[in-house]
Amino acid sequence: MTVNETELLVLGAGPGGYSAAFRAADLGLATTLVERWPALGGVCLNVGCIPSKALLHAAKVISETREMAAHGIAFGEPAIDLDRLRAWKDAVVARLTGGLAGLAKQRKVTVVTGTGRFLSPHDLEVTAEDGSRTTVAFRQAVIAAGSEAVTLPFLPQGDPRVIDSTGALELSSVPDRLLVIGGGIIGLEMGTVFSAFGARVTVVELLDQLIPGADADLVKPLLSRMKGAFEAIHLGTSVTGVGDAAGDGAAGRLEVRFEGPGGPAAETFDQILVAVGRRPNGAVVGAEAAGVGVDERGFIAVDKQMRTNVEHIFAIGDVVGHPMLAHKATHQGHVAAEAAAGRNAFFDARVIPSVAYTDPEVAWVGTTETEAKAAGVPYGKASFPWAASGRSLTLGRTEGLTKLLFDEATGRIIGCGIVGPNAGDLISEAALAIELAADAADVALTIHPHPTLSETVGLTAEAFEGTITDLYLPKRR
Ligand SMILES: Cc1cc2nc3c(=O)[nH]c(=O)nc-3n(C[C@H](O)[C@H](O)[C@H](O)COP(=O)(O)OP(=O)(O)OC[C@H]3O[C@@H](n4cnc5c(N)ncnc54)[C@H](O)[C@@H]3O)c2cc1C
Repeated sequence: MTVNETELLVLGAGPGGYSAAFRAADLGLATTLVERWPALGGVCLNVGCIPSKALLHAAKVISETREMAAHGIAFGEPAIDLDRLRAWKDAVVARLTGGLAGLAKQRKVTVVTGTGRFLSPHDLEVTAEDGSRTTVAFRQAVIAAGSEAVTLPFLPQGDPRVIDSTGALELSSVPDRLLVIGGGIIGLEMGTVFSAFGARVTVVELLDQLIPGADADLVKPLLSRMKGAFEAIHLGTSVTGVGDAAGDGAAGRLEVRFEGPGGPAAETFDQILVAVGRRPNGAVVGAEAAGVGVDERGFIAVDKQMRTNVEHIFAIGDVVGHPMLAHKATHQGHVAAEAAAGRNAFFDARVIPSVAYTDPEVAWVGTTETEAKAAGVPYGKASFPWAASGRSLTLGRTEGLTKLLFDEATGRIIGCGIVGPNAGDLISEAALAIELAADAADVALTIHPHPTLSETVGLTAEAFEGTITDLYLPKRR
């Protein structure tokens, strides 16, 4: 057994962990990063954000080229070479994870590969794949162990016909009929990919709305486009059981039983993708040995400096709570590293944007209309339909919508929702506006380039101000 000593130990090399480790090293702390997977980057780079976006890009190319047929350019049906597509997606991931390894080296961050478990408030044991063990003694630590996909106990376990997002991203085949259980962001993104690649996709969602965190008016254009692309979408419906359709084991289809209004009683599918949420890894790192409190769901509570109940141990990212998003993890990683280095750093972001990279994309930041209504918060609102955006029409799309919410008393922007192509790129302006406490005039008087989709944010603010000339709106005041 080797014993290493480090000033700061970071457990988990996802966006939270590697950002914390790199920032800490930049601030002069001797840093050790422990990761059980061979590559750095965590879920996001290896089996999450990045590979899914590579495949979504391929899906977008397919749907856009198909749609151009109506405008005079026909390419014919795509010939999809899954091996090459997979190799390209893997190469994108490898380039990024390789880059991280280089950045760790440049910063002299010690990377230890193996599964870590706390032995005490100042020691972590790391078990490598070959069973060898190393103990790392640390002065301070950051737990950045992330999350895992939730499984459903009534589904056949270990059956290749039942996959999670990681299995889907392996892209080993395209099933004829795919059932996606869960109409949240991950399920819909993967459904979009497989539908473009030729699968007949059905989505089943327990709640009455897809992407339950987003406002219904933003989800509406997505739902209507998905209804055209997917075989079926069953809302307010649950899966009550799954069995072999013909009793012929893994060779045949799975029969799925549903319960809900309007949906089928039972149907058969070649593959089931389970995307019903993610469970934090707080309970599987031996946190109790370090004295760190973990709640019954596996989350670790932290203060604004990302400190757990044990002052010298921090936690960040998915393991500390929702939203489980890479950019939140990164920012929390910086705060933890800076606090560990003695800086007066706090995680005090006003807002964290969320994006579904579906087609169209759905993005929102700050207070949603649903939240404002539920909390009885008075708010002002303006929207701009993309049917009036020249740029949107040149993309062959009209369904988008940009919406801004305002504080009634101060006129400041408190929330923004956007649906349409590239909504995820457009939402940052609203996030910045909220962070800077901007009001409608600030955004409306900011000159946005024409013709762009970003103009829709400025035009929405103009609509609230009553200065818009690209639409006719009856006077409000
Ligand atoms: C399919 C999919 C698509 C996604 N797309 C997006 C997106 O587009 N945008 C976005 O913001 N978010 C997206 N997410 C979510 C995003 O991946 C996570 O929010 C983000 O990765 C969380 O970062 P993290 O650092 O907290 O943890 P993780 O990325 O989960 O990293 C934790 C790391 O800790 C390691 N680890 C855990 N336990 C141990 C241990 N005991 N010993 C050693 N190592 C350990 C794990 O191996 C892992 O590498 C997606 C997720 C999925 C599954």
